Amino acid sequence: MSTILTHDEIYRLPKIDLHRHVDGAIKPETLIRLAKEFGVKLPTYELDEFTKLYQITEPDMSIDQIFQRFGWGIAVMRTPHGLHDVFREQVHDLAEENILCAELRFAPGYHSIYPPPWYKPEMYETEPFPAMSLHQTVCYALAGIERGMKETGIAVNLTLSIPRESLSVWGKNSVEAIVKLALQFQNEGVVAIDLACDEYTYTPDPYIPYFRATRGSRIRRNPHGGEMGSPEQRLKNIATCLNGLNADGIGHALEIYQSIYLMFLARCRNIRIERTPLSPVPGCSLADGHLDVLLKHKVPVVITSDDPVLMQASLTDNWLAALNYHQFTDEQFWQMTANAVNTAFYRDEAQKTRVQEEFVKRGLSESLLRR
Ligand SMILES: [Zn+2]
Repeated sequence: MSTILTHDEIYRLPKIDLHRHVDGAIKPETLIRLAKEFGVKLPTYELDEFTKLYQITEPDMSIDQIFQRFGWGIAVMRTPHGLHDVFREQVHDLAEENILCAELRFAPGYHSIYPPPWYKPEMYETEPFPAMSLHQTVCYALAGIERGMKETGIAVNLTLSIPRESLSVWGKNSVEAIVKLALQFQNEGVVAIDLACDEYTYTPDPYIPYFRATRGSRIRRNPHGGEMGSPEQRLKNIATCLNGLNADGIGHALEIYQSIYLMFLARCRNIRIERTPLSPVPGCSLADGHLDVLLKHKVPVVITSDDPVLMQASLTDNWLAALNYHQFTDEQFWQMTANAVNTAFYRDEAQKTRVQEEFVKRGLSESLLRR
């Protein structure tokens, strides 16, 4: 019999989070502790006051205001130990919420030699931090993940984000460098590359050759697409991600419900569509997502947390909102959980088998799994 799940039940159920930005998921208390330790300037070190400034609180915040909320987290992760500690703690936060498998994403360039265009070191760093190499940023992030995995027993992989401004601001070498990094670490925990940040200004088209360069490797392509801009532009960007970038998963893809053809492609190619029902980005609300249409067309849609701390909504909160809005029951919870288990980017077959077995042990029906 189908049941309506409560927040408490969802919290306790096994979950999987395939779209989570580490710099949007650092708890304010962790950030204050690390900022004091590594010399990052915060407007205040008092928890309640800082939390108000740090989280996205206004419904009509501009995209620039939203991006700048990431600055303090980025600053802390521009130091080797800060980067390691944030990733390690992130794995613990996942485990605590019963998230058994996750893909964390970050932009190595932001913590190294290609900071965001709006990031001014003197605003954040007491003494300017010596820049880490791109290679070092990935090593420290993976070391934090490995340590967290050993301590918790959950499965976590890493996706490297390419900010959309990269080609205009830093040039093609900066993009090639991230693709090369992903390929270098493809057997050590890096599973995908991503295209992220300002979709209002930049389209995915110029990134086609860089994404295609990963074909034939273990690295999967997991861009954001169809999150920002007019509905027409979003639909066009989703089509470019699917057919140009050869996406294996797309973050948001809001307007995909308008195209039977694109939904058919996602279904046939097993391309996951990642949704964050409580996203504060304008036009990304639950009503805009049409999860019910996607499920009806058997598109592998999954629920994700995106930036759980900045957006003040955990993965559990996002699940509850989606289930309540559509009057979905535990049946849809398990279907979308199976979609995620079936479309996750595992580092090897052994990891895939372990994750599948763990979910089956915790209630997922074998019949929903693709072995
Ligand atoms: Zn995202």
